[in-house]
Amino acid sequence: MKKLLTICLLAFAITVCAEDRVPKNIILFIGDGMGLSQVTAGKVAKGKLEMERCPVTGLVTTWSDDSLVTDSAAAATALSTGVKTRNGSLGLAPDGKPLKNVIEYAEEKGKSTGVAVVCSLTHATPAGFIVHVLSRKLDSEIAGQIAASDVDVLFGGGLNYFNMTNNPRLPELQKKMTVALTAGEFRQLGTPEKAAALLYPVHPPYAAERAVSLRELTEKAIQILSQDKDGFFLMVEGSQIDWAGHKNDATNLIAEVVDFDHAVGSGLDFAEKNGETLVIITADHETGGFALLGGSVEHKTVDKTGFVHGNHTASMVPLFAYGPGSTVFSGIRDNTDIGKTMIRFIQTSE
Ligand SMILES: [Zn+2]
Repeated sequence: MKKLLTICLLAFAITVCAEDRVPKNIILFIGDGMGLSQVTAGKVAKGKLEMERCPVTGLVTTWSDDSLVTDSAAAATALSTGVKTRNGSLGLAPDGKPLKNVIEYAEEKGKSTGVAVVCSLTHATPAGFIVHVLSRKLDSEIAGQIAASDVDVLFGGGLNYFNMTNNPRLPELQKKMTVALTAGEFRQLGTPEKAAALLYPVHPPYAAERAVSLRELTEKAIQILSQDKDGFFLMVEGSQIDWAGHKNDATNLIAEVVDFDHAVGSGLDFAEKNGETLVIITADHETGGFALLGGSVEHKTVDKTGFVHGNHTASMVPLFAYGPGSTVFSGIRDNTDIGKTMIRFIQTSE
């Protein structure tokens, strides 16, 4: 019996030491609309990407319940709940029933949670990790559900939706946490247990003109959330890679990928030091059918590009992973597998 116990303990120790052990913290980076060509363009422009620090790579299928080509709402729902839904729907199954998301599972486990994005907090990707509504277009309803949620860190834009004269949600949010409304206030946040930043009336401008970078938002979110001894879940979105894709604007598309990659670097820096953090970097879908047609690796330039059209495509998107639990993401996975796996990790973490 004693021998059997020793063998069991040894087997357990080996399992725990391996890279497939359960992480305490998860940081999910989503490059909205970031297909393989978008990543390649970022690499040509930057030389070496932070994403390349990840030893695990994979490919992800992105279709939704009712369309080969997903929108960001259905994709966010798949990533946050592990269930495919109809385009436009946030946190609800195709039959309209609410789906429990990774943030709600994390909160149940006593972990801190947060989102940091460079769009309105009511936009499809962040909303898909927090709310349960039939349509992504219901910004005021979405703001209400966000304000009523238990999410500890809410960094992005969308102040107008929290400040509507007929339905103000800002006071509700301010009762629960410090809310920074300017870059100056954001930088003076310190490290409270909970904090929000509503830095723009609706959406921030493109990367070059943003008063607070996505990297800064990510660093502050990690500082705040990592104070929780029970661990945390954080979703960070490079929101505007997609928008430049819709506009077939290669210059801003590349700048947004590079900006997103800077933020990824801060997540990986933390994970390297911390040792208990899984970092996943992927996209919700590809946008534009983007292609690189000419440029120079030596001069770090991309000067000839093409787009198939101004909307999303069904191409698989790349995935990069680092840290405990990362190995399960190699190979071809469906977007729902990412949601399911993160939820399993959270449910089984100590
Ligand atoms: Zn889009």
